[in-house]
Amino acid sequence: MVDDPALRALSEAARLSPDNLPLRRHLAEQLLGKGYLADAEAEFRAALVLAPKDPDIVAGLAEAFVRQSSYGEALSALEPLLAEGGYPPKVGVLAARALLGEGDLHKAAYRYHEAVSRDPSVGDSDLAGRLVAPPPVVAEPAGAPAGNPPAYMPPSSVTHERSTAEVERSGFSFADVAGMDEVKEALRVKLLLPMQQPELFAAFGKRAGGGVLLYGPPGAGKTHLARAAAGELGAAFVSVGLADILDMYIGSSERNLRATFDLARRHRPCVLFFDEVDALAARRSDMRQTHNRQLVNQFLAELDGVDQNANEGVLVLAATNAPWYIDVAFRRPGRFDQLVFVPPPDADARAAILRILCRDKPLAEVDFGAVAKVTDQFVGADLKGVVDRAVEAKLQESIRAGRPVPLSTRDLLAAAKTARPTSVREWMATARNYVMHANESGAWDDLMPYIQRKW
Ligand code: ADP
Repeated sequence: MVDDPALRALSEAARLSPDNLPLRRHLAEQLLGKGYLADAEAEFRAALVLAPKDPDIVAGLAEAFVRQSSYGEALSALEPLLAEGGYPPKVGVLAARALLGEGDLHKAAYRYHEAVSRDPSVGDSDLAGRLVAPPPVVAEPAGAPAGNPPAYMPPSSVTHERSTAEVERSGFSFADVAGMDEVKEALRVKLLLPMQQPELFAAFGKRAGGGVLLYGPPGAGKTHLARAAAGELGAAFVSVGLADILDMYIGSSERNLRATFDLARRHRPCVLFFDEVDALAARRSDMRQTHNRQLVNQFLAELDGVDQNANEGVLVLAATNAPWYIDVAFRRPGRFDQLVFVPPPDADARAAILRILCRDKPLAEVDFGAVAKVTDQFVGADLKGVVDRAVEAKLQESIRAGRPVPLSTRDLLAAAKTARPTSVREWMATARNYVMHANESGAWDDLMPYIQRKW
């Protein structure tokens, strides 16, 4: 119970005039400021009903959650804003707090750096101190001599110029990616054929190289696709989250970036994948801090390579939910010269994704088409959530029964019923704002039919 008379008077006023948004907002902020967190949460929720996407109200609600250590709920509240990009920097800092609370240091560091690079005044030294990553480790290929640093690295780089990224061998191939036939075909032509048949390409005077920028709503399968492309090609896979690069210490980000490219070059053929690349390749004109502009320049220089052969056998893929923030310099030939849209799956693709997600589970007869029908606007990540939830319920049933109880259509339908698609509709609305009247070059042709449709 709130025992502050001024707040009680405000609450009473809000009760009498429930649709007065400024009043509710004021009350919620006062409650939050005075530490009445549960009451603040309730008031922010009420305000959100009146103004569903108001970033200040969302941020207030998320802060109330974070201060009550309800980190997952804070992230759910922030998700629609985060998915759109361009959110207020303080929202990024709140997301960083929530992610840290969930133990996801890397994503937390990324959100924090991205926010502070846009508005240094939201910085928080206490939070920044908790985001310092543990010392980086480089995974060397199997069979590399243990103990000694590789001979080709100068001694100084052993201590300072290590990439935090690791080399993986992807167990996936395109057979593990459901639907997306056009996307797979585009990647095949761009990435795989030149590597598999270099003579053919040479005959036409074309060199393998240049990168592909995958864009689309969050969770639609960009990372999965990149990993599958590496497996399809039999190439090593180096995946770089932005937290790997946006180092705490100004100046060392450039070194980390170079070390990451070098790591990929040492393991060619290699797919080098940059997730959330918009933070690294944002328009330089949008950046307030010169050190970020230097990082963009360094990225361009690495993509170009010191000479013609520098990136031979290194295929650079990048993913973004916000392609419109990317500096046009990245789209020049030899850089990310191909933009590939990774769309939300249609009903057939959803059924195929569900089939793939369920293939190693004990299954009864399952009608994947029926589940696909009730999961309109669900992307791959949402469908994975549905399957995980159904499996979880089944696991408990199996424990009770003392034997594995197979998953059925009904279980999946029940799990789907309680789930909500994340953000396709919001993403499409944002995309429409950015690209509807900016498609002179045809760069967004793939996206156009999707944003013109009703979601
Ligand atoms: P994004 O990088 O676009 O945010 P992810 O690649 O992380 O999305 O997708 C999330 C998860 O959804 C993946 O790990 C994968 O399990 C599943 N998924 C997404 N798309 C597909 C697909 N086309 N086929 C199979 N699984 C998919």
